[in-house]
This record gives sequence, structure tokens and C-alpha cells, in this order.
Amino acid sequence: MKRALIFVCFVVLLVCPVDAQQNITALNKVDPGYFVTHNREELIRKLIDLPCGIQADDPVKLILEKVQNYLVAFQPSEEYSDDAYAKAANLQALKSVMQGGYGIGSVLIDQKGKIIAAAHNSQIQKHRSDLHAEMTLLTNFEESCLAKQYVNIYVYKPGLIVFSSAEPCPMCYIRINTAGADTKYCTPGPDDGMVSRTDFLPPAWKEMAMKRKVSIGVCSPVMQKISHLLFYSFLLDDRGPK
Ligand SMILES: [Zn+2]
Repeated sequence: MKRALIFVCFVVLLVCPVDAQQNITALNKVDPGYFVTHNREELIRKLIDLPCGIQADDPVKLILEKVQNYLVAFQPSEEYSDDAYAKAANLQALKSVMQGGYGIGSVLIDQKGKIIAAAHNSQIQKHRSDLHAEMTLLTNFEESCLAKQYVNIYVYKPGLIVFSSAEPCPMCYIRINTAGADTKYCTPGPDDGMVSRTDFLPPAWKEMAMKRKVSIGVCSPVMQKISHLLFYSFLLDDRGPK
């Protein structure tokens, strides 16, 4: 019986090869409809619903301070193994929003689960179209002394993970794959994320992407919601190009 079971498992593995990529929707406990916000009113409603004590008539500065206080005090639980990374990425995202920038942050995680670099989007602050959070993260890391112990001749040693507060865009997803890192993220990007659209990459880029592990993080609903709302925080004061 045991041999028969092992044989069946072997046949199933042969018939259904598992891609390096993983299911990127299975761990999402928030209603998928939450992850698109259409206007400022909807954004404010969702912010008030967070457990941060935000009131309808709070000025933007106070809203951001309340989110910051919540994030700083937030204690990740064992149930959500990526919440510590989500918290760190969200604090980066919030830092950018407080500077007048876009609310996306990311961290680089080594093979032992340690955060070894962190960055946020700086497009508006530095007037640079390429300074998305993940691009800044990888550029700063590659230029640091620390990188020597983590890189091979061309790409990073296996097992490094870029964890983003939001699903990486086409530019950043290609960059992460080119670097040889895996990808995790907190909030899906139904309107802009490329990770869930790997099939639409040109064949060579798709082949490269399929060699990497990709998954939505194991994050609590509140971390996912904060990631999403920080991403859409440009609606608070209508910042960004028209
Ligand atoms: Zn990007």
C-alpha cells in the first residue's frame, strides 16, 4: 500500500511539474475588491476603518502620524510569518509619503531571513523616473560593501528575497529577476503589478522569471490593507503627474 502511494505521488509529480513560481493568490485573506481604490473619499473611508484611530476630519499629516504610530507599535504574530517584513516595508513606504512621495517600500532579505537593506520610492523627491522602491533598494545594495558576500559574478547567490509593500511593476520585476532574487509582496497590484502577469513577458524574460520564486507574502489583513492604502495615498493630495 505504502509503495503504491509513493508510486502515485511520483506519477503525479511527473505529470504535473511544479514551476519555481508559486501560487500568488492563495494566501490573500482580504476581499480582492479591496485592492483597487477609485477616489479620495473611498481612500478616507478605508483609512477610517483601519485600527489606527483615524477620524474623518483629520488633516493628512495627522492621518499619516496615526498610521506611523500604529506601525511602530505593531507586533507581528507567528501566524503571519512575513508580517515583520511587511511592517518594515510599510514603514519605508510611509517615510516616502511623509516626504511627499509615493507610498511604496521594500526590503531585501537574506537566506537566514535577516533584513539586509531597505528603501522607498523617491521618484517625486528626487525627480527621477527610475527611483521606484525596488530599483533604489537593489542599486544601493549593489553599490554597498555588503553586496560582496551576497553576489556571484553576474547575479545574487540563491535565496535572496525582495519583499515589497506592493506588487512590483514591470520595470522592477524585470530588475529583480535580472538580479537573481526571489519576489514577495504584501498587497496585490490589480491595476499595475507585473508579477501576476508573468505570462505576458517576452519569452526570454518569462523564462528568467520562471526560475525565481514568487509569492504574495504571508501577511495579516491589516498589513495588506495598510500597504494598499499607502500605495494609493497619492489620492490624499492628488500628488504625481497628470
Ligand atoms: Zn516599480
